[in-house]
Amino acid sequence: MRTSEIVDLTRKYVMNTYNRLPVALVKGKGSYVWDAEGKKYLDFFCGLAVNNLGHSYPRILFTISKQARKLLHVSNLFYIDHQAKLAELLIKNSFGDKVFFCNSGAEANEAAVKLARKYAKKKFGPDRYEVITMKNSFHGRTLAMIAATGQTKYQKGFEPLMPGFKYAEFGDLGSLKETISEKTCAVLIEPVQGEGGVRLASADYFKAVRDLCREKGILLIFDEVQTGMGRTGRLFAYENYGVEPDLMTLAKALASGLPIGALIARDFVADTFEPGDHAATFGGNPFVTAVGVTTLQTILKEHLSEEAKKQGKYLLEGLTKMVKECPQIREIRGIGLLLAIDLDQPARPVVVKCIEKGLLINAVQEKTLRILPPLTVKKKEIDECLKILKGVLV
Ligand code: PLP
Repeated sequence: MRTSEIVDLTRKYVMNTYNRLPVALVKGKGSYVWDAEGKKYLDFFCGLAVNNLGHSYPRILFTISKQARKLLHVSNLFYIDHQAKLAELLIKNSFGDKVFFCNSGAEANEAAVKLARKYAKKKFGPDRYEVITMKNSFHGRTLAMIAATGQTKYQKGFEPLMPGFKYAEFGDLGSLKETISEKTCAVLIEPVQGEGGVRLASADYFKAVRDLCREKGILLIFDEVQTGMGRTGRLFAYENYGVEPDLMTLAKALASGLPIGALIARDFVADTFEPGDHAATFGGNPFVTAVGVTTLQTILKEHLSEEAKKQGKYLLEGLTKMVKECPQIREIRGIGLLLAIDLDQPARPVVVKCIEKGLLINAVQEKTLRILPPLTVKKKEIDECLKILKGVLV
């Protein structure tokens, strides 16, 4: 199909919920994708932090074809080999003791809030159900998660919002202290606010949040849907701060592009869930978890978190050098391969110009560009990105 045909069909038959860019992508290999007209792009968008191994990674292709021939789906009413193996791998490489599998980031966060509420109600009584999240956060688009998300633009028109969420300023311990009450059962926080524009907070802040939660018997939940799986230079972003949460949610890159979500928890809280409390028909099915196992094994064996740290430093240095030559750049920030450029002008026209020159990046906020290369990115591809960006911005 030609691009025009794909666009026409989409406009006619798909609900208009996305502000799509004028490209139809049909093929990918490594750090590159091709559109329906055969034009090649350097993909530093990575399907919104999903394609951490790039496209068509050989070991992933092998697992997909092998498992597709064997078994796609059964149901969680049976035991599932790859689900068990992926759970073991996640637990052996994180703070956690048990995993619940679902299909997306929002679903993983829903599971976290359900588990936190049940745990706290059982331990402290029926009024302990509130979850504190951060202003400028993002936790997904379900009804509960738009209430959890501390940005009104995602909530408008869908009221009444689900009760039980309060908001504190990200990075401000005093604000969190003021927001905590007798009703607080958990704090849900992103280690880096991705959709909020790649906003960081200090290790001291996260350590203080950890101590405060422990002191008050409040659960600490890290939403690592975007930051997990090596993106920030460690397998999980919390490792950068030297603090461990009680619960953590994952999704996006966990199965290299297949839909998956996971909630990881310490036993003292995970044991609260009993048969019948929570479920997902597709959650952790043989196909996605087989690919999840290969994804995680590859990230570990190929030291891709360390690669993200190394290549992220190189990209950050290159971007920082550009600041002097580009007056419209206000700030560069980020961690690992999760980077942002604040501009003094709208970001979308810059994204469109980059597309014309064969580079895919994302406008994450009105005046903020987000750059998300695959963890397998090479120096010469980073140089190519910097050259295109410079051509557009200078
Ligand atoms: N949490 C965070 C931190 C995210 O970045 C996202 C998506 O961007 C979500 C949750 C929602 O994930 P999903 O779109 O898979 O529901």
